[in-house]
Amino acid sequence: MNSTYRSMALLIKSLLIMLIVFDTVLVSAAPEISNQPVAIIIHGGAGTIKRELMSDEIESEYRAILKEAITRGHTILRKGGSSSEAVVAAISLMEDSPLFNAGYGAVFNHQGDIELDASIMQGSDLNAGAVASVRRIKNPIKLARSVMKASPHVMLAGSGAELFAQQQGFSLVSNEYFKTERRRLQLERIINQQTSSNHLPKPVHPLLVKYQFDEKKLGTVGAVAIDQQGNITAGTSTGGMTNKRFGRIGDAPVIGAGTYADNNSCGISATGHGEYFIRAAVAHDICARVAYKGISLQAAQDEVIQIKLVNMNASGGVVGVDKDANIAFSFNSLGMYRAGIDKHGKSFVQIFQEH
Ligand code: ASP
Repeated sequence: MNSTYRSMALLIKSLLIMLIVFDTVLVSAAPEISNQPVAIIIHGGAGTIKRELMSDEIESEYRAILKEAITRGHTILRKGGSSSEAVVAAISLMEDSPLFNAGYGAVFNHQGDIELDASIMQGSDLNAGAVASVRRIKNPIKLARSVMKASPHVMLAGSGAELFAQQQGFSLVSNEYFKTERRRLQLERIINQQTSSNHLPKPVHPLLVKYQFDEKKLGTVGAVAIDQQGNITAGTSTGGMTNKRFGRIGDAPVIGAGTYADNNSCGISATGHGEYFIRAAVAHDICARVAYKGISLQAAQDEVIQIKLVNMNASGGVVGVDKDANIAFSFNSLGMYRAGIDKHGKSFVQIFQEH
């Protein structure tokens, strides 16, 4: 009787231990459940994108890559990945596409070379990283992320940034990698234009005719996302502006101008005439209006893009995500390549003004 009682007690004890161990395994293996909705929004540049000059074939190429970029970023967010992973994934896909003015296919500077700018900022701790005028980095957004994570600095430029890249294990590519015939012809045409006229002559080369719908397009790429932890990240990458000179750097790598993120308000990525975006501190101004005025992300974007920038005669646009995972965009040019997936999982891909 006594021994039966003892073996029963032993059995119950072993069962209890098994339950505790099993439960621990279950708990630690279970993915973190979060109610925080995720969202992502991207742009591929704003400017004079003329619908009547764009072929159906080119339009679907743009739409396809914008869709692929948001899907890639959103999949990372849905699986519990961070917003910075999602932003880097979406931006590097666009950097690798010749359709956009970032990475491969970026615009030429006056000397016929490519100089790239990029930045990233995370809203959880206001940490940020940026690179400017790099010539041999295949994906500048990835180097910007390394500056943010692995250096005590915020912005590195030129050969110093490339030395840092090598120390971080990046392999360098030749500047020739980035050059495309379409962009070379664009530079040639701008340099050949009559200085007395403000208008570019009609394009004659077939490649220029094919892409004439966006000859004045500025073309930066950017992404903003919020992850399941409620962390917002914004990133921007660009080749700058065709025919730029004297080591010109635009707004894209300037934190507060082309890129800004703060979990308490919003994240913004901008595209447009960089000189004005720097002077108007566009990305930070929008987040500050959300934080201090308590207005919606859409209202803050519109105040800065449709009023402040228009008053300065500056063209361009922004995309953003706020702390409640609302997405919004605003632009004052004819078009802006843009796409997003909102907190309800609803997606959109747009190029022109839609009413
Ligand atoms: N903002 C970029 C720059 O000024 C250009 C662009 O958005 O396309 O460098």
